[in-house]
Amino acid sequence: MSTSLEHKRHTLAHLLAAATLGTYPHAHLTLGPAIDDGFYYDIDFGAGEKPNDEALKKIEKQMRKLLPSWKEFTHEVVTAHEAKSRFPGNVYKHELIDEIAARGETITLYTCGNFTDLCRGGHAEHPNKEISDDSFVLDRVAGAYWRGDEKKPALTRIYGLAFDTKAELDSYIEMQKEAEKRDHRKLGKELELFTFDEEIGKGLPLWLPKGTIIKEELENWAKETERAWGYQRVTTPIITKENLFYTSGHLPLYKDSMYAPISIEEENYYIKPMNCPFHHKLFSALPHSYKELPMRLAEYGWCHRYEDSGSLFGLMRVRGMQMNDAHIYVTPEQAVEEFVQVIKLHEYYYKILGIQKYEMELALRDPNKMDKYHGEESDWKLAEEMTIKAMEISGVPFKIAHEGAAFYGPKMDFQIFSATGRSFTASTNQLDLYMGKRFGLEYTDKDGSRKTPYIIHRAPLGTHERFIGFLIEHYAGAFPLWLSPVQVQILPVSEKYNDYGMKVLKTLRDAGLRAEIDDANESLGKKIRNAKTSKVPYIFVVGEKEETSGTVGVETRAGSEGAIPLEQIVVRLTEEYRNRK
Ligand SMILES: [Zn+2]
Ligand SMILES: [Zn+2]
Repeated sequence: MSTSLEHKRHTLAHLLAAATLGTYPHAHLTLGPAIDDGFYYDIDFGAGEKPNDEALKKIEKQMRKLLPSWKEFTHEVVTAHEAKSRFPGNVYKHELIDEIAARGETITLYTCGNFTDLCRGGHAEHPNKEISDDSFVLDRVAGAYWRGDEKKPALTRIYGLAFDTKAELDSYIEMQKEAEKRDHRKLGKELELFTFDEEIGKGLPLWLPKGTIIKEELENWAKETERAWGYQRVTTPIITKENLFYTSGHLPLYKDSMYAPISIEEENYYIKPMNCPFHHKLFSALPHSYKELPMRLAEYGWCHRYEDSGSLFGLMRVRGMQMNDAHIYVTPEQAVEEFVQVIKLHEYYYKILGIQKYEMELALRDPNKMDKYHGEESDWKLAEEMTIKAMEISGVPFKIAHEGAAFYGPKMDFQIFSATGRSFTASTNQLDLYMGKRFGLEYTDKDGSRKTPYIIHRAPLGTHERFIGFLIEHYAGAFPLWLSPVQVQILPVSEKYNDYGMKVLKTLRDAGLRAEIDDANESLGKKIRNAKTSKVPYIFVVGEKEETSGTVGVETRAGSEGAIPLEQIVVRLTEEYRNRK
């Protein structure tokens, strides 16, 4: 937020307070700061009525009425005694004044129009000239506690939105509305995709049958694609003896993100927070020649990480996750080309999913925290150079950040943008010259010498949790056919046609499509509304005409396509499904 915008928002908090006191002269003002999208003021309305939506509109109108008379701020320095006398009976202001006095700071009162408030300053100098009266609105009323402490008095918080111009305000409101509609937590519930259960625990999503279909479709797609791109699949356990994480260096460094160990036969076992060390062990289980490299080991591995409960957020930040993981073991000569291939694999996935905007960010070492990183300087330099080279060859736009590297190497993140332009960090990739040495990994080179491979860590589809959370918002719940939990909803126009509907259902299911029939004794209009709410891509209406001609009445999200022979539409849908259109 620019300083001038912050000053405007702060000024509007004063204006809100002034307008509120006009209508509620016995209310007590407490605190009112500028925030990211506007401002708020916390007010004690006492036993009197709190403002409802209608009253909010009135206060907002009053703010506009006062604004022209707010020509200039003046301020005065006062004693604590004087300050208190200006807010008679207001225990909140008195508490603040006592605190300022106890810190030995000067107490200032700011006045604009006929309104005075206890304040440190930072306003629009000339509110009537600087603030346009259509650039703000009062947004909503919420509950709050004095000092954010639930043991203290309950207050009413009035929120306002404010921007430099009306156009910016309007586009912000529009974006908010769209984001609310697409909120993955809301849609996940409505579309019956996933749930959480207090008895199971925070941050541990349960996938309902429909959500599990999406998860499995993505997983099958990744398996199919990665097989074609030369990956081999492996499977590893979710717990391990603690020594593995000492070998990798994650213990004690990464301990805060790991769950406490479980003791088994007097040895400590950890739940894995990442798959890497397991794959390294698999690589070292067999002897390897340079001819086998690059060796790409892939697994949709289960990882668990400790996240504090305050940071958990729907599917976006969870404690249990399944990762589209792989580790690629390469010779130094292969490293750049293989990293380019990893970037291309991301692009391939994004293309199918209709993700048009994406960029990369390379996180290097923070120059102020150089003691945080392991490994030799020469390896760091080489890893940085090679990663940058691969990013340049790929042609995908990228940025460089001088912080955020992993303790063992630079880290490259993909940022993807949803259909509404919201950005998400989707996957993290690394060229790692360090872990191969720590795990003593080796391959036999052309000349018979033993060498250490470089390792590429990659996860283009991130975790199921985060990625499906992203896709729900990206598609606003209207998944393409191949990801839709129900692909076709069959709607008989009346019970008389349920038998034909069942025949259509069997044909679709035999063709491997996910179809359901709504044979309830309801009006067709209601059935169509239900099917549209559940966002199925195809609705087949069946009645007398369809039964006699062996057709179905096809409705898509784009509109009606009329009667189409059943065999013909089955071929089309099967094709659409297979090609993930
Ligand atoms: Zn102020
Ligand atoms: Zn890894």
